[in-house]
Amino acid sequence: MADEDQNAFVQWRHAPPSAWQYCPLCQDSLVNHAWDGKMRRYCPHCGFVYWERPLPAVAAVIRESEASGRILLVRRRYPPQEGLWTLPGGGVEAGESIDEAMIREAEEETGLAIALDYQLGTWSTPSHETIITFFAARVQGGMLVAGTDALEAEWFPLRAMPRLAFDTHAEAIERYERGQKDS
Ligand SMILES: [Zn+2]
Repeated sequence: MADEDQNAFVQWRHAPPSAWQYCPLCQDSLVNHAWDGKMRRYCPHCGFVYWERPLPAVAAVIRESEASGRILLVRRRYPPQEGLWTLPGGGVEAGESIDEAMIREAEEETGLAIALDYQLGTWSTPSHETIITFFAARVQGGMLVAGTDALEAEWFPLRAMPRLAFDTHAEAIERYERGQKDS
């Protein structure tokens, strides 16, 4: 359990621009400076600028099979929103395409090999810290087993979803459902 407790502290935290007091390159104090009408944190000593940009992430609505129509959710082990359910997904690593990131995250979190069908869209989280591309996907192989950062992984009918950790994920599932009805 000690390892788990420690892991809870190394989760990434969002730091808004105002929280950046010192230059990460030269440790001098940052000041506000406007570019194109938008205020940025700037180091007058070495020229470092803190560009507040969202981190790219991916998540997928993965269907079990054409026949079942159930989709896969994982229950979060770590903050934020630990204990609640989300779509499988995670951050894009440097050098990956978003497709590669999604296929890797699904394998890590659920043990399943997936094929991506189409994109549901890309939009920012309410805090603007992350911008997520959502996919519709299907299972190609593997065995369902929850990865290390999930408490469990389970199939749910669209009509009986548990409480989700993030509104952005709920919105992606709604878009997926609308697409299913239209087709
Ligand atoms: Zn500096």
